Amino acid sequence: MWNGKEHAVKELSYKELPGISAKQLSEHHDVLYAGYVKKINEIRAKIESVDLASANATYSDMRELKVEETFAANGVKLHEEYFDSLGGDGKVKGTIAEMIAQDFGSYEKWEQQFKATGVAARGWVVLAYDWDEKKLRNIIYDTHNQGGIIGCCPLVVMDVYEHAYFIDYATARKKYIDAFVANVNWDHANELIEKRRIKENRK
Ligand code: FE
Repeated sequence: MWNGKEHAVKELSYKELPGISAKQLSEHHDVLYAGYVKKINEIRAKIESVDLASANATYSDMRELKVEETFAANGVKLHEEYFDSLGGDGKVKGTIAEMIAQDFGSYEKWEQQFKATGVAARGWVVLAYDWDEKKLRNIIYDTHNQGGIIGCCPLVVMDVYEHAYFIDYATARKKYIDAFVANVNWDHANELIEKRRIKENRK
């Protein structure tokens, strides 16, 4: 959670989900996600005292800290949105349902593209709102700090790294993607649309 200077682990609001086990979720949340929270705090503290005069684009402490800051910060943000994207019944509703129908033709077309993007990605798939184009897009991050489109804010985030599903599904990524989509919390996406005033931007 992004409160003040030090970041704290955001607790999970569920223990297990249909098709995603408690063991899978606890390894992912309690170990991997919590590790990114620890590292972003460590990196941000070191940036406060790094030698600015020795900054260098081939190698320098400043470069390493600023590059890994993008990895760790996005690692935290993407994981928090991922866990918040789950815990629902997968039934699209409200403003996000209207926006998906307008921008993708139908929910079914969106779902087909989202799932195929999940097979094509190495790290993340994000249903995001592009503030400049005023449109929804399914976008890829191959890792936390590689991919994405600037000016896009996440509404539904799916982790497709093997660590997100290997305990439950081994190599069967498509089955995991089906389970993810069946558990999407569309109420959360609608809350983000309200909170970020996306309807006002889209007018
Ligand atoms: Fe992950």
